Amino acid sequence: MAMNQTDQTFVIVGASLAGAKAAETLRVEGFEGRVVLIGEEAERPYERPMLSKEYLRGEKPAGKLYVHNEGFYADNEIELLTGTRAESLDPGAHEVTLAGGDRVPYSRLLLSTGATPRRLSLPGADLAGVLYLREMGDSDALRAAITAASRVVVVGAGWIGSEVAASARQLGAEVAVVAPGAVPLERILGPEVGGVYRDLHQEHGVALHLSTQIEAILGNGSAQGVRTTDGPVVKGDLVVVGVGASPRDELAREAGLTLENGIVVDQFLRTSDPDVFAAGDVAATWNTLYNRRIRLEHWANAHNQGQVAARNMLDPAGRAAAYDKLPYFYSDQYDLGMEYNGFAADWDRVVLRGDPAGGEFLAFWLKDGHVLAGMNANVWDQGDGIKALVRGDATVSAEALADPSIPLTDIL
Ligand SMILES: Cc1cc2nc3c(=O)[nH]c(=O)nc-3n(C[C@H](O)[C@H](O)[C@H](O)COP(=O)(O)OP(=O)(O)OC[C@H]3O[C@@H](n4cnc5c(N)ncnc54)[C@H](O)[C@@H]3O)c2cc1C
Repeated sequence: MAMNQTDQTFVIVGASLAGAKAAETLRVEGFEGRVVLIGEEAERPYERPMLSKEYLRGEKPAGKLYVHNEGFYADNEIELLTGTRAESLDPGAHEVTLAGGDRVPYSRLLLSTGATPRRLSLPGADLAGVLYLREMGDSDALRAAITAASRVVVVGAGWIGSEVAASARQLGAEVAVVAPGAVPLERILGPEVGGVYRDLHQEHGVALHLSTQIEAILGNGSAQGVRTTDGPVVKGDLVVVGVGASPRDELAREAGLTLENGIVVDQFLRTSDPDVFAAGDVAATWNTLYNRRIRLEHWANAHNQGQVAARNMLDPAGRAAAYDKLPYFYSDQYDLGMEYNGFAADWDRVVLRGDPAGGEFLAFWLKDGHVLAGMNANVWDQGDGIKALVRGDATVSAEALADPSIPLTDIL
């Protein structure tokens, strides 16, 4: 690609965290061409984590969510098109077509279209009072509904379900959670650490219906509860569904780009088309640390990938910077805050250090003696030690990991 920058147009579809950070980085790196940032939502780019936490509880205003201040896009000559949906992509013609028919030509394109909540398809799924959470407006609607509800049923005990359950309790609602795992967050954290979250929710008065699924939402016009597969009806006049999210890869699919649980990108965030990149929740990225493709739905991943994608878009060969960040995410529920570094899909041992019952502990997920991932819960000075253990290639002693008197830095 010729790099006379003033002739270039870089288009970003998806105006949320990854897209906004990419647009910012293009300008920080001195790109002088056109930057067009296209987003379906009415809002300028904002961050989602508070939508299930402080914003949902009414503790933080919308103004705290935005990635940039209002004047940022105009000041940096970033053409932000809000309320605008990209309808199709023609990689051969280097063109994006917007809903309404306008065509936007691009030299290089970033797809940062994110993910969308998985919808239930079972009887009653369309009743009023069945809500999902992804956007700012969803969080507004949920706050109003929780405040008005006599009892909230949360379907799913992943991060969104667990955080919504905690926030709903903090807002004073009665809350029941229905989920297939034996403990909340079981798939991600396993039974040991998931058990800590089970106890935490129970201590805060959440009724947990675990190891069961729902087969119908009951109600006449509006939701009145759910029926579980093992029989009992869990009553509630608001049903919040948090059963995972799917990558929004429709543009890429129709354009014939390679997909596999999201848009397939290499470590430079390049798709199967050399002028199209992808970043954030939608991107299934080749991870050089784990030697596998990983699609993450985490704030830090969107934040960092947007920046790396922009640098690679600016490079004629598209390979200025490999994405080699350790996966990282965080969650807050009641008074338990946690950070998780690494990636563990399959482990053979979990080691705990500290006091899980007292809510201050570390946890490590190991495979063949290697630390795949580590978590700190209400402990805030061990992050570097955890990251070094996860990045390190050595096998470690589980006994030493469990012993708080041995500094993490001495274990490698
Ligand atoms: C309620 C909630 C709580 C969360 N809490 C945490 C947390 O505590 N910790 C953590 O690490 N992560 C958390 N996350 C995850 C984090 O918010 C996401 O990883 C992050 O938002 C991903 O950013 P993204 O830019 O890749 O995609 P998204 O934020 O999904 O944004 C994609 C954007 O693209 C737009 N779009 C899609 N298709 C088109 C199209 N065809 N045309 C135009 N625009 C389009 C969408 O409208 C959307 O605005 C949370 C997510 C949610 C929903």
